[in-house]
Amino acid sequence: MTITENEIWQILKEVPDPEVPVLNLLDLGIIRDVKLHKSETVVAREENKIIRDVKHRRSGMFVEKNDVNNSEAPEERHIGSPKLEDSQEDEIEIIVTPTYSGCPATSMINMAIRMKLIEKGFHNIKITNQLSPAWTTDWMTEEGKQKLKAYGIAPPVYSKNNDELFSKTDEVECPLCGSKHTHLVSQFGSTACKALYQCDDCKEPFDYFKCH
Ligand SMILES: [Zn+2]
Repeated sequence: MTITENEIWQILKEVPDPEVPVLNLLDLGIIRDVKLHKSETVVAREENKIIRDVKHRRSGMFVEKNDVNNSEAPEERHIGSPKLEDSQEDEIEIIVTPTYSGCPATSMINMAIRMKLIEKGFHNIKITNQLSPAWTTDWMTEEGKQKLKAYGIAPPVYSKNNDELFSKTDEVECPLCGSKHTHLVSQFGSTACKALYQCDDCKEPFDYFKCH
């Protein structure tokens, strides 16, 4: 089975964020890169070459018919035969930057990516967690921020470049009524990645997706 990098991106769009299932991994902006490696095929070909060479040497030392598996002549196991290449799946490498190191969702995200690709029939999967540069809420797509709001979670307001991360917390907009009169109740909401706010107008508590 062959796949293009573009198709892998599309598959990753089907993987929800374990913490905020309304967002997919592309909305979050945590997928840094997708790579297809042919390396496994090369390795397999090298291994085959070694096997063939060994058999060549063995045939010189032992009686050929003792080798049960050697039903065909060694010369026919040609390196790079199309049959061999087709049987080797390309390695799919997904480079992920966790929302923040220590976020318990990281291993769940890795697992979710793996399971989705397996579900699609791919098994040669490598997931690389790239910690630097660190993810920031700036990487979240505009679409992702809109989805958060529709879900009742206030999207991150400030970028990491802004030094006033928590100093202007009164400007977190209520996702329910749109009021900017809100206040921080707790630094930790339903998960460590969120803070709990309350709206002063509609009085509803809501989660705020914290900037970092
Ligand atoms: Zn409100």
